[in-house]
Amino acid sequence: MDMLIGGKHISSDDLEDVINPYNGEVIDTIPIAHLQTANLAIGEANNAKESLVEMSAFKVSNKLFNVVEKLKDNREDFAEQLTLEIGKPINESLVEVDRSIETLKLAAEEAKRIYGESVPLDAGLNGKGFFAFTQRLPLGVVAAITPFNYPLNLTIHKIAPAIACKNTVIVKPPTEAPLTVMKFCELLNEEFPDGVVNTITGYGSEVGDYLVCSPDIDKVSFTGSVTTGLMISQKAGMKKVTLELGGNDPMIVLKDADIDKAVKGVINGAFLNAGQVCMGVKRIIVEDEIADEFAEKLVGETEKLVMGNPLDVKTTLGTLISEKAAIHVEQTVNNAVQKGAEILTGGVREGAFYQATVIDNVTPDMDLVVRETFGPVAPIIRVNGVEEAIEIANDTDYGLQAGVFTNDYSLAMKCAQEIEAGTVFVNKQSTFRTDNMPFGGFKNSGVGKEGIKYAVDDMTRMKLIGLNLR
Ligand code: NAD
Repeated sequence: MDMLIGGKHISSDDLEDVINPYNGEVIDTIPIAHLQTANLAIGEANNAKESLVEMSAFKVSNKLFNVVEKLKDNREDFAEQLTLEIGKPINESLVEVDRSIETLKLAAEEAKRIYGESVPLDAGLNGKGFFAFTQRLPLGVVAAITPFNYPLNLTIHKIAPAIACKNTVIVKPPTEAPLTVMKFCELLNEEFPDGVVNTITGYGSEVGDYLVCSPDIDKVSFTGSVTTGLMISQKAGMKKVTLELGGNDPMIVLKDADIDKAVKGVINGAFLNAGQVCMGVKRIIVEDEIADEFAEKLVGETEKLVMGNPLDVKTTLGTLISEKAAIHVEQTVNNAVQKGAEILTGGVREGAFYQATVIDNVTPDMDLVVRETFGPVAPIIRVNGVEEAIEIANDTDYGLQAGVFTNDYSLAMKCAQEIEAGTVFVNKQSTFRTDNMPFGGFKNSGVGKEGIKYAVDDMTRMKLIGLNLR
């Protein structure tokens, strides 16, 4: 599939295969762009700024709603494309497309709410006699750089608010899974003037880096790993940056919790998308008194998962993004076992599949829970009491989301207030998000918030206009 730049389809002399991780078949090829093409995209996106600024908010909103309808009409095709390039079970891909439709709708609504406010300058010294108000203006060109695991919805979380507040966009999709996003950008291009949305494929370290460093890009909106995020924050210079990075989310299960509910939370939280979720449950911190019962029930539910062809509706556990990624998870689990952890179920890799794995007696110093493990693994860390649970929950460089299971509301509030994370849910796993909520982590999990309204705030600049009436 070709790139879309300034409304034209552009290829490259260098091509790369996009591989279906389930069967190793080539689904399509993409161009590997170099700096000259990145420059072309930057030029086209800048040239198109005026066409969008001149469009009324009414029209922008209606056009986004038109794209909503187009995506709805192609729901099944988009879901199948996602499953082919990521190995995600088809039912999960359908959920991603449904969420993408909702995200886009939220942006279409938000396009009509880009408000300023009047500011009483007379509340400050010598400010009497003015009429002053603010306006929220577009930044210009937004570079959207996105990861493989939820390629469609996470990219729409950037493109849609950017256009809603009249920025043009250059999308750099993940090299492993670029096709669904590229297809979606074609739908946008049918509605908006050429150059409003552009795609560029290639290596992050080359074209991604070039966009980040370019003075003709006004904002970088990045979702991906902490390593890349840190590099971007050091190179971006004087432009706005939003970083939605990795997570190592804890789930605390206290002794009075509804154990069945917590187990259900882990099944969704640790195994959704084969554990490749930024806000996945990555550390299960359980009070010792209930840990045996919890582990037994978790093993029972885990063994009900069905690993198989991701296009089969009965499949509940698909592949990882590649065999290389699965080997990495296998090695990390094996390393924990060598240090004393015990696999209760799973622990076997077959190509790009890794079985849903429950691993007990994990200690906080094991690599499995020190770093973000991006695979279907549920590590249990046993603790004595809420204080130790909170201490371990916070003993990480990450702080995306967290979940606490208890029926004692004072303990719930204690955890909610003391856990260092962008979101803390009570009686719900961290792996939950609605597309309108402010989403974004503390510590190394990121800078800035998404969730359409919050993304729009970060994709506009505020101007104050003051009329001296004296
Ligand atoms: P990644 O950092 O390897 O790649 C993300 C994107 O950055 C890709 O498009 C890649 O090509 C590009 N890139 C790579 N090097 C670059 C560079 N030097 N300059 C500019 N761009 C560059 O991440 P990934 O493996 O695709 O995704 C998995 C990670 O993303 C996990 O850590 C996961 O937790 C995180 N993630 C976070 C969120 C969130 O909202 N917080 C959501 C999903 C995934």
